[in-house]
Amino acid sequence: MTIDEFLGALDALDASALALIASASTPAELELARNRVIGRKSGELGAIMKALPSLAPEERRGAGAAVNRVKSVIEAALALRASAVAAGGVIDSARDLTMPARRQWKGGRHPVTVVIEEVEEIFRELGFTTALGPEAETEWYNFSALNFPSDHPAMEMHDTLYLGDDTLLRTHTSPVQIRTMQRYPPPIRILAPGNVYRRDFFDASHAPMFAQIEGLAVDEGIGFVDLKATLTHFANRFFGATKTRFRPSYFPFTEPSAEMDVECRICHGSGCSSCKNTGWMEIFGSGMVHPRVLEAVGVDAERYTGWAFGMGPARAAMLRYGLPDIRLLYDSDMRFLEQIAG
Ligand SMILES: [Zn+2]
Repeated sequence: MTIDEFLGALDALDASALALIASASTPAELELARNRVIGRKSGELGAIMKALPSLAPEERRGAGAAVNRVKSVIEAALALRASAVAAGGVIDSARDLTMPARRQWKGGRHPVTVVIEEVEEIFRELGFTTALGPEAETEWYNFSALNFPSDHPAMEMHDTLYLGDDTLLRTHTSPVQIRTMQRYPPPIRILAPGNVYRRDFFDASHAPMFAQIEGLAVDEGIGFVDLKATLTHFANRFFGATKTRFRPSYFPFTEPSAEMDVECRICHGSGCSSCKNTGWMEIFGSGMVHPRVLEAVGVDAERYTGWAFGMGPARAAMLRYGLPDIRLLYDSDMRFLEQIAG
């Protein structure tokens, strides 16, 4: 047999095999077609391959490749036809274009990530840029520079995870405020999102590691009214038009300090178990930056004032989606996360 005759026979087999496979409409007919074309003992492809040794040695490699090509086309046609026959489809081609496609798995962003990105977007419009810092910090950056005296009860309240004598996992993203003020002169407007660590046990509203977002503005002539207007603007953007209120509070690094509440998202102010019947839910801790914090990083506290705020995006996600338990956000239960993924 010449190489031309060999390739001609392969072509003829290719065409007749595809027609045969396409005409099979039951698994039994398909099995007969398979045996007739590529069966081990009496297959037509095998019969053609018996002529391979009669070809010139330099032609055998190309002929072998042609055989493999035809064989893989036939096997693909058999597999396609088999799934069409199994699905009971009546078709007139080896390729059933009406078969439903395999369902694609759609990825989504975690609700906490969605909240962080939304918060960043709202504050970006107000001129804030994002600043990041290390999660392992020194006591000075995490506490001392923020006006925590070494025996301050707030330090015990934080229940810090220490890595060494002077190094710890940051308990808030406030060290990023300190690092930013050391590096850049005012005016400053930053947003500092990141993970923070506390030794809290894991319960319905506390996790040992959680995301936090803080904001800082330092400039000449800015005061509490700017802080209040900014946070109120944020609440109305994030939750839709909502009532807000400010309550006096205490933080070592701000003076005066205030917490901002939004009207309970679940009962709309009438009182329910989620808001402990107050009708309000806390969203921000905030205040005017304490002059000692400005002085610790060399900012002239006579000339500049600053305000700062902090929030937990997981808590904001709980409020937004009406979740009863913060652990839902960290349990990696896809059935839950898929429902609210962005
Ligand atoms: Zn309520």
